[in-house]
Amino acid sequence: MPNCPKCSKPVYHAEKKTSMGVDWHATCLKCEKCKKTLQPGQHAVHDNKPYCHKPCYAAAFGPTLVT
Ligand SMILES: [Zn+2]
Ligand SMILES: [Zn+2]
Repeated sequence: MPNCPKCSKPVYHAEKKTSMGVDWHATCLKCEKCKKTLQPGQHAVHDNKPYCHKPCYAAAFGPTLVT
């Protein structure tokens, strides 16, 4: 059983979102800064934490090549 990288609790199949190669709770895959809900594969990553591309990642870390 994989653990969610956000809350470190087990992620069950019915509630998981797989992004960055790991399984998240659907409710845990949110931007670290603005708490916006993110879609798998459609967000930026920094230090293993998910961020929305704009404005948060761009504002905090500059332009990203991740699309
Ligand atoms: Zn979680
Ligand atoms: Zn954000």
